[in-house]
Amino acid sequence: MMKRLGLIFLMAAAAFAQPKSNDIHVLPVQGNIYMLVGAGGNIAASIGQDGVLLVDAGTSQMSPKVLATVLQLVTAVAASPAPNRCVGLHCPESPYRWSSPSLNAIIASPAPPKPIRYIINTSIDPDHTGGNEALSALPADSKILGVTFPPVGVAPTATVIAHENVLGRMSAEINGKPAVASGLWPTDTYRGRSYKLSEFFNGEGVLLYHEPAAHTDGDSMVYFRYSDVIAAGDILSTTSYPVIDLAKGGTIQGALDGLNHILDIAIPEFRSQGGTLVIPGHGRVCDTGDVANYRNMVSIIKDRVADSIKKGMTLQQVIASKPTLEYDGLYGATSGPWTTDMFVEAVYKSLSAKH
Ligand SMILES: [Zn+2]
Repeated sequence: MMKRLGLIFLMAAAAFAQPKSNDIHVLPVQGNIYMLVGAGGNIAASIGQDGVLLVDAGTSQMSPKVLATVLQLVTAVAASPAPNRCVGLHCPESPYRWSSPSLNAIIASPAPPKPIRYIINTSIDPDHTGGNEALSALPADSKILGVTFPPVGVAPTATVIAHENVLGRMSAEINGKPAVASGLWPTDTYRGRSYKLSEFFNGEGVLLYHEPAAHTDGDSMVYFRYSDVIAAGDILSTTSYPVIDLAKGGTIQGALDGLNHILDIAIPEFRSQGGTLVIPGHGRVCDTGDVANYRNMVSIIKDRVADSIKKGMTLQQVIASKPTLEYDGLYGATSGPWTTDMFVEAVYKSLSAKH
């Protein structure tokens, strides 16, 4: 029994481990939503009869591979002998009543796949926005990447949506030049706490929530209301402590608020398992229980550091007191872009900042 359990654990670990190869890996999440792993930040893709909507675009270097993977996915879904055209609220019957999968296969050739229509950016980071230009330039310019979507009667480029603070920071001039090249800018922005696509996409409502001052001041979370999937962006990472980018307006309290917001929306299927699934900015797919554990970790560390500040401890003393110790095995790092010390420093500075 133990042996078998061990094997199951091993298989589970293999299935959830970050792929080491330089390829894009696809995980069907649920409903319309697929997760593309290996392009920098995770990409959530809604694939269906209206085309493709991506949450985040990965790095620019990985764009050709992302595009090839998206085309493969969308072709497979569109060419399925029994395509699920019945998503959303109007199931289970076709309005024509006589439709059946076998009949469809005889009378209909597969519909051509439709291209990427929307890209939503969860933050300004280059591993989430680097592919904006290459992935939105469809279908005409996509030949550059060696992939051609069939022309369809839709706008020639995808709409790139982000919170207005993302555009503000990208377009801010440094030495007379914008901080980020204009091809990577969002084409549409929103302000305020939330935004929704004005009509169903692939049979469901798509909602965006602004999480002010979390990872940055321009974070968006995306909720697919029928598939019941949340793309959380960098508020949630199963491979590191939350990245609090102080220079871009991030705070520990905002990150905690964002995690609590996920838990407000998410509903488990049973106890804390299953149900709403959450795609993190980095790492593996989570359910309510996973997000709750992560939220508890962030809350506990925040309280410890706040307590130390109240006692008058300096940053060096707080780092030496190891407020993250029992979580370091899961999320800690001594090298790389986001070390444990950097996280503790960000929490310390975020809590000591005078507002
Ligand atoms: Zn990221």
